[in-house]
Amino acid sequence: MAGTGVFAELVDGDGVFKYYSYGEWKKSCSGKSVPIINPTTRQPHFKVQACTQEEVDKLMEEAKTAQKSWAKTPLWKRAELLHKAAALLKEHKVPIADCLVKEIAKPSKDAATEAVRSGDLVSYCAEEGVRILGEGKFLVSDSFPGNERTKYCLTSKIPLGVILAIPPFNYPVNLAVSKIAPALIAGNSIVLKPPTQGAVAALHMVHCFHLAGFPEGLISCVTGKGSEIGDFLTMHPIVNCISFTGGDTGISISKKVGMIPLQMELGGKDACIILEDADLDLAASNIVKGGFSYSGQRCTAVKVVLVMESVANAVVEKVKAKVAKLTVGPPEDDCDITPVVTESSANFIEGLVMDAKQKGATFCQEYKREGNLIWPLLLDNVRPDMRIAWEEPFGPVLPVIRITSAEEGIHHCNASNFGLQGCVFTRDINKAILISDAMETGTVQINSAPARGPDHFPFQGLKDSGIGSQGITNSINMMTKIKTTVINLPTPSYTMG
Ligand code: NAP
Repeated sequence: MAGTGVFAELVDGDGVFKYYSYGEWKKSCSGKSVPIINPTTRQPHFKVQACTQEEVDKLMEEAKTAQKSWAKTPLWKRAELLHKAAALLKEHKVPIADCLVKEIAKPSKDAATEAVRSGDLVSYCAEEGVRILGEGKFLVSDSFPGNERTKYCLTSKIPLGVILAIPPFNYPVNLAVSKIAPALIAGNSIVLKPPTQGAVAALHMVHCFHLAGFPEGLISCVTGKGSEIGDFLTMHPIVNCISFTGGDTGISISKKVGMIPLQMELGGKDACIILEDADLDLAASNIVKGGFSYSGQRCTAVKVVLVMESVANAVVEKVKAKVAKLTVGPPEDDCDITPVVTESSANFIEGLVMDAKQKGATFCQEYKREGNLIWPLLLDNVRPDMRIAWEEPFGPVLPVIRITSAEEGIHHCNASNFGLQGCVFTRDINKAILISDAMETGTVQINSAPARGPDHFPFQGLKDSGIGSQGITNSINMMTKIKTTVINLPTPSYTMG
């Protein structure tokens, strides 16, 4: 149960979850709290503190100070603490999963998997960090014209300082640790602003880092509505880097902040191109898994199917048969399709469905909604004038566009303002490579649905889907700067023998 056992100190006398600063759980002076609405019951389930600007100022100062001594902590020691936190995350997967079920209606098995996967990510990051941060470069000067070998250049990776981490609601634990662990192993301090839906799961995760024994001030967690406290955080002068995952909010943040490195993982409209020679059963299974897992609320969900006309009927029939088997209901029952995160999300999805209906899409199932629960829906014969052809529903609704050539599929994919991932199904590897190269997306999967993991693979979006690249190694590198020291010799010196 959330907020019990070792997590009891997270809750104040009024049942509000506290924020985390300087190694302590605290009540905000604002006296205000933010309710977290359970997507299934649509009733308030938890409350978190609405932190004030003064509280943010204080923990930013603490983060700045703590980082200076953390940067002097040996790499092996940083890794050791991360391994401890990883073990604690796995040990406490049940209460963390319980929060995810109540806050974001994640099916219970997936919720437990998120906690375990997060522990694995933290451990891998600790291992990778001690290797890649333990290496630098050595350069000599005489490779550049006009120079003799009088200069030896040593390069190493140094931390950036204070990293602000802002994850989205759909993986509030995993997408938080994917920022926290690389930041810490690289010698940075971290200020986390969790999504409001998912904040309590994130606070439980932070407590695992607390129990692992990280120094005071190194990790802080501020709660409150992004729309109220977000600008103050992102434009705070102490912040040296922002790692953000979410929707269009990331685009507006990137326009407001100053000269600091940004890691932005934003929305997607991942296309699934199916050629005539594809294994249609494999394609259909991947469409259902890719399009409907966690009710389509995944950045890398299949968000549009672009299928060759000649095999379209067969693919649609196979997908329909599999959709009919999806279970629909509460996350506690581990149903495949659970309520979407908020009523406004459900309304937005419904708007896309009604637009497609009005413009003549074929409904493969009857549209059904109860509260935030939307039954899985496949829309066939979608045309480019329909909103669903371009917009990200972030729900269990999947459009199918029939195409007459691979080029038409590539064109649709590239006409999107997003460029996160895509996939292509064909038995011809040469065609697959040509299509993959032509698709303007950060990743293309051949014969499988788009996916963010395994977490050490590079993960990035082009165009409005992001800035920079994630994945454990890339995130560690992104959260460091190169420092060089040049040794100037009085006379050229060459290593002999
Ligand atoms: P969102 O509305 O953009 O929110 C993301 C985070 O930003 C939340 O923590 C939110 O806090 C915070 N926020 C809101 N306003 C802010 C502001 N003015 N300044 C700073 N932070 C602010 O996204 P979401 O609805 O949580 O997540 C869904 C989106 O994320 C989808 O578009 C999906 O594709 C994308 N996503 C992308 C990836 C990827 O790796 N590319 C992965 C997962 C999800 P509050 O909750 O308090 O508002």
